[in-house]
Amino acid sequence: MATELMYLNDFDVLTGTARVLSVSADDDGRTDLVLDRTCFYPRGGGQDWDMGRILSSTGDTAFVVEEVRLDPEGVVHHLGAGPITEGGEVSLEVDAARRTANTRLHSAGHVVDLAVERLGLPWVPGKGAHYPHMSFVEYNATLAPADVDTVVGQIQRAAQDVIDAGSSNEIRFMPVSEMGEFCRNVPDNIPTNKPARIVLYTPDFGVPCGGTHVKDVSDIGTLTITKIRSKKGLTKVSYAVEGVN
Ligand SMILES: [Zn+2]
Repeated sequence: MATELMYLNDFDVLTGTARVLSVSADDDGRTDLVLDRTCFYPRGGGQDWDMGRILSSTGDTAFVVEEVRLDPEGVVHHLGAGPITEGGEVSLEVDAARRTANTRLHSAGHVVDLAVERLGLPWVPGKGAHYPHMSFVEYNATLAPADVDTVVGQIQRAAQDVIDAGSSNEIRFMPVSEMGEFCRNVPDNIPTNKPARIVLYTPDFGVPCGGTHVKDVSDIGTLTITKIRSKKGLTKVSYAVEGVN
């Protein structure tokens, strides 16, 4: 049975209660914990997993979550160590600092893309990564070396303008077939093991995405375009968020 993903409905749910459905061991000897629902984000969409603690109902023992994975059936596996009892009620505590950093980095990637759209660049979005050691968005696009510095400046200014203006993001669940109305780009490989959802960054800029997002774009802070590299029809825009990477 698929795990209920509490973080999908809410921008910053970091705590909650759940029931332990199974406790087993993974191949590396870690304990693999499956709950009926979770607010722990499993790695996906270029965003890193949450860490944190899962406490017994009495609060006197803690399971330490080191890694979180979503399997093809939509079941979330919490991997880690610590005492835990099958069938018990537990309290979930996501490491807020780590989640916030990952959320700001991830949302910054979408704002870079929004800036690219506002600048009218005919670039087709491809993959992205939003990890503290590696944050970039990649496009099917070619950029002449002579134009790189100019475009770095343009994207950075346009992205920071969006952040500084601020706007509330909105979560909407909808079938993939309806996403094209709100989203510039709807990839044909949208995961089917979790509910289909878009996040509207502005009324005309939605993103099909199951990651965690800032509630207001101003929460991203200061964004820097650190590098653009264009090679063999792929243009990679690397970025950093102040205080994260
Ligand atoms: Zn996303």
